[in-house]
Amino acid sequence: MNIEIVSIGNELLAGDVVDTNAAHLARSVARYGLRVHRSQTVPDVVSAIVDALALAAGRSDVVVVSGGLGPTTDDLTTEAAARLSGVDLELHQPSLDRIVERFRLRGMPFKKNNEKQAWFPKGAEVLENPVGTAPGFALSHGAARLFFLPGVHREYVAMIDASVLPRLAAEARGDVRWRTLRTFGMTESAVGDALSDIPLDDGLFIQYRASFPEILVTPVVRGADAAAADARLGVVCAAIRERLGAHVYGEGADSFPAVVGALLRERGLTLAAAESCTGGRVAQMMTSVPGSSDVFLLGAVTYSNAAKAAVLGVRAESLAAHGAVSEQVAREMVEGVARVGGASVAVAITGIAGPGGGTDDKPVGTVHFAVSVRGQVSHVHHRFTGDRRWIQTIAAWRALDLVRRALVDAA
Ligand code: ATP
Ligand code: MG
Repeated sequence: MNIEIVSIGNELLAGDVVDTNAAHLARSVARYGLRVHRSQTVPDVVSAIVDALALAAGRSDVVVVSGGLGPTTDDLTTEAAARLSGVDLELHQPSLDRIVERFRLRGMPFKKNNEKQAWFPKGAEVLENPVGTAPGFALSHGAARLFFLPGVHREYVAMIDASVLPRLAAEARGDVRWRTLRTFGMTESAVGDALSDIPLDDGLFIQYRASFPEILVTPVVRGADAAAADARLGVVCAAIRERLGAHVYGEGADSFPAVVGALLRERGLTLAAAESCTGGRVAQMMTSVPGSSDVFLLGAVTYSNAAKAAVLGVRAESLAAHGAVSEQVAREMVEGVARVGGASVAVAITGIAGPGGGTDDKPVGTVHFAVSVRGQVSHVHHRFTGDRRWIQTIAAWRALDLVRRALVDAA
């Protein structure tokens, strides 16, 4: 089934409004293993709308149109649909009654132009709008079915759910299942490359989505029935996990810090963090999880050298000899915060987030990490690229990822 989107509105082409309706439809149909294969965006001009509808109806099985159903003179979609079909508009009395009643209930005066929303191309099926005034409608053109929905996102979503998805779902063959695997630490292209040997077919496609700083991988499978789809999804997820290994930190709605917190809790461990360039982001992430106080004990933002020395006991000689951004100082920070916090696991981050402060041997993006698990300290350093916020975010995630991996390995 080929699905095409036609989005109508000058505001979309002007960049004033982002086409969230198209995104919603595309995501929604994916649940049924269906995909949008084309999308057009056209201005509020009758001839442009007619052209777009004709093109879409000629090449797609289902066309979902959004916008231009309102009462104002720039709402021209209904007129364009009638012109495409070569029919007149006719008044749909039940819709008019409903609109009049809606205005009465809200104590708003009914204006003549509101009547416009009760006129539809002759022969069209009126689709009720459960949350707004303007109903939608459906009609056939050649072999294609066209659905016309209001542009207001809330109304669009309600009508997709009420009138469009149930029909498409009923026609989708077999059962569809999908699951999102959440990864951190690989680029999108590296993830795609690692999975490139998994053969795709009619019953399997894999969606990739970069949601900085993570990459989400969603296999969507179709089986003859629910059991077959479940079984295939299990096999595909295992194949993906085998290829991505520990880069997969969770599934579905799992949150990254919640996964780290759960690992700590399972093992009866606690965490403290000493942060410099991340400015408390690690603490923020850990404390964003409800109930984290049993595993997260201390976050110390030791930004100055004096604070690193006074709070964490970092030695003045280490700071002088190696600088604050160094392996030695990261190690002393992690030992200090584990001690002060009384935590069995600790992580320390010291780096240069930029844009200033870089040198030849310590360029912007240089970050040293130390992790301590029951007194066993390890160290890594990275050179991240990006702006300040980007470097701070990825460094905080990397710090928690080092903790996560240490805990998984220690199991
Ligand atoms: P109304 O009855 O409000 O006039 P309508 O069906 O005529 O609804 P439009 O006038 O095209 O729809 O758009 C109404 C509002 O919905 C716009 O102000 C715009 O912000 C929003 N909108 C329109 N199209 C989209 C879209 N594709 N994605 C998200 N929002 C949209
Ligand atoms: Mg409008």
